[in-house]
Amino acid sequence: YLTFDQCLRHWAQHRPHVTALTDEGREYDYAMLDDLTARVASLLLNLGLRKGDRIAWLGKNADLYVILLFGAARLGVVMTPVGWRLSAEEWSYIVNDAQARILFVGAGFEDRVAAIASTPKGLDHIVSAVEAWTRIEATSPGAFEPADADDAALQLYTSGTTGRPKGAVLSNRNLFGLQIPRVDPDAPWMHWDTGEGMLCSMPCAHIGGSGLYVRTLAAGATIHNLAEFNSDEVLDRVEKGGVTRFFLVPAALQLLLENPRCTATDFSCIKYILYGAAPIPLELLRRCISVFQAQFIQAYGMTETTGGIVMLPPKDHDPEGNPRMRSAGLAVKGVELRIVGPDGNELATGEVGEISVRSTNNMLGYWNLPEATARTMTDDGWIHTGDAGYLDEDGYLYIHDRMKDMIISGGENVYPAEVESAIYGHPAVQEVAVIGIPDPKWGETVKAVVVPKPGMTVEAEDIIAWARERIAAFKAPRSVDVIEALPRNASGKILRKDLRAPYWEGYE
Ligand code: ATP
Ligand code: MG
Repeated sequence: YLTFDQCLRHWAQHRPHVTALTDEGREYDYAMLDDLTARVASLLLNLGLRKGDRIAWLGKNADLYVILLFGAARLGVVMTPVGWRLSAEEWSYIVNDAQARILFVGAGFEDRVAAIASTPKGLDHIVSAVEAWTRIEATSPGAFEPADADDAALQLYTSGTTGRPKGAVLSNRNLFGLQIPRVDPDAPWMHWDTGEGMLCSMPCAHIGGSGLYVRTLAAGATIHNLAEFNSDEVLDRVEKGGVTRFFLVPAALQLLLENPRCTATDFSCIKYILYGAAPIPLELLRRCISVFQAQFIQAYGMTETTGGIVMLPPKDHDPEGNPRMRSAGLAVKGVELRIVGPDGNELATGEVGEISVRSTNNMLGYWNLPEATARTMTDDGWIHTGDAGYLDEDGYLYIHDRMKDMIISGGENVYPAEVESAIYGHPAVQEVAVIGIPDPKWGETVKAVVVPKPGMTVEAEDIIAWARERIAAFKAPRSVDVIEALPRNASGKILRKDLRAPYWEGYE
């Protein structure tokens, strides 16, 4: 199966009584999910929507969202979830940009919609969660022409780490193409045992949220939904049983570790813990491995590649100094990976350049942005990720940074991540971000922005000296700012662009 419609029919036939979805005590088996999503398809048809139209969701993760996404996708109506942590200006920009015709509003978000100054144009209906459920129940599933593999299903906006978010259009094939459960000795996590369940707590507006729903559906397993990440609730669900896997971003893993219940919780039912979406500090990863007795898998990918396309297998998570712990992993079967230089030429092993990928997971394109699409995707199907990195002789990918974050100081390339990991070892440093600031002599110089550990102070000279002992002098910071917290976006990614902005006023 390569489409939502095929997949839902398949499991309704083969696993009708297996639980497909749980949310706050509500449970749906695959027969019910098939029925409910078919009703959603009919409802949308009755409301005048056709293949290629967009609908939007403003709300937390919810069973209703999953049912709307799957139901719309059966028909070829494209779901655009918007991040509930975004400001009114930000989310209405997305609803507008997507030209959504219906906005579904999750429980608790009615007031936010009522409060916006002007309703996004093009919206025919605003439907609350209560109203949506009533309408779904009142609609009987009718005949519809199902979407094809290459029809769009999901429009996800990029996180906006480097600029305005862009709508990445993902097809049925993008979402299912690489996900077929299989027996592969090199990737044992691709095989799912019967009765497995995935805890979904990352926001549905991101690929690590919605992509995970689809992955679990493809496996015919159980989606255990959490409205949002909360370390106590994650631990409750782990203790309750049924959950065998979960995915968390590094910032969430950090919060989970900080929960004092963590060490007393039995994680033996968890087979795999997936993590990714942002660089993970090595120290954090080591602590996770020692506290959770599960197998760890790192995933590297982006919205444009429908999520993880490079994975670091459990066997390379050896806390005893295995250098592969610093790697993002190997290309997933079916994914081509290469590193290219400034003129698009392929670079040799070990050379740092832009990471490029090609696979059935590559998005159809950015919504209404032909120029940005042409810059990102080549005619022969490669995506330029905008990330810098290199491959070792065994094909392991090491991510350096965003190309945009690279600092050019006196003609030398400096990658912030390398400088940050040197500074991370300093006993008084809680967090650090490294940026380039303008300099008349060097073009740019390296600046470290440091958050001290609670109750500790940090001296600029001390940080500079510490870095100079560990990395080349041209990479070490020349100046240090001390702040209370680093600016982050809703996905927990550090916004270097915000740190840079005051220094670059009048330059860019
Ligand atoms: P925007 O494109 O709007 O600036 P964004 O790139 O942060 O935002 P996403 O598509 O959500 O939006 O994130 C993809 C990016 O996240 C990748 O390009 C990469 O920089 C980073 N990333 C993803 N996985 C990892 C990982 N395992 N390790 C390090 N960085 C990662
Ligand atoms: Mg991006």
